[in-house]
Amino acid sequence: MLINPKSDGHVHTRLCHHATGEMEEYVVAAIGKGLEELIFLEHLECGIRYPEDTWLSEEDFAAYHREGQRLRQVYGGQLRIGLGVEVGYNPKHVPAILDFLQQYTWDRVGLSFHYYEIKGRHYNVVSRRKANLEPLGKQGVERVISEYFATLLEAVEVLPGTVLCHLDAVLRHHPEVHFTEAHRRQITEIFQGMREKGMALEVNTSGFSHRGEQYPVRSLIEEAVALGVLLVAGSDAHRPGEVGRFFERLW
Ligand SMILES: [Zn+2]
Ligand SMILES: [Zn+2]
Repeated sequence: MLINPKSDGHVHTRLCHHATGEMEEYVVAAIGKGLEELIFLEHLECGIRYPEDTWLSEEDFAAYHREGQRLRQVYGGQLRIGLGVEVGYNPKHVPAILDFLQQYTWDRVGLSFHYYEIKGRHYNVVSRRKANLEPLGKQGVERVISEYFATLLEAVEVLPGTVLCHLDAVLRHHPEVHFTEAHRRQITEIFQGMREKGMALEVNTSGFSHRGEQYPVRSLIEEAVALGVLLVAGSDAHRPGEVGRFFERLW
């Protein structure tokens, strides 16, 4: 077994404004599913100009840590509870990201790249909405994907990440999404950077809901493993019922 299916290392809660459920409901769901570990990975974004906030405010993060400590006291005998953060990388706001990360102790620092900038505005690369897909498509699918991987490589190098999240979910709802040989070489460089830093690759089972297969595709997971990168599982739950989803399909 290359991956621990008793640990769900990526869940969100209502604190991020686009998920539902209290932290406690996720803990109860994890215990109900027989998991041994649950790691919250709440969204952090810095300097993003987008019509809505899909991340936690400073106050939200303070409440998050307080509630996490309380839950550990109540449920710690039944479940290991981790408090982590999914950092959406923004190359223009690295100092702010690093300053924020230093304020707390994190059990996991997940790296992602959700927002692509065009003329001073940001567009969500994992969204299914036309308002995101159209401008990103106009920019050019191949170009957006290249910049996505280049930016992720930079994130691996400059941030204290411990896990890379949903690697190939970029433009997942765009009909023309396609990875070229050049993209594959970029991915190899990312894996090499991860190995050097001891970062793990997330096998994100939300992919089973979106496309019938985890993120990333199996060939990429195999490449990462061959390069010596460790794997961790995450459901990317945005509802308590999604905790540990499809973990029976992990291998
Ligand atoms: Zn989310
Ligand atoms: Zn994400």
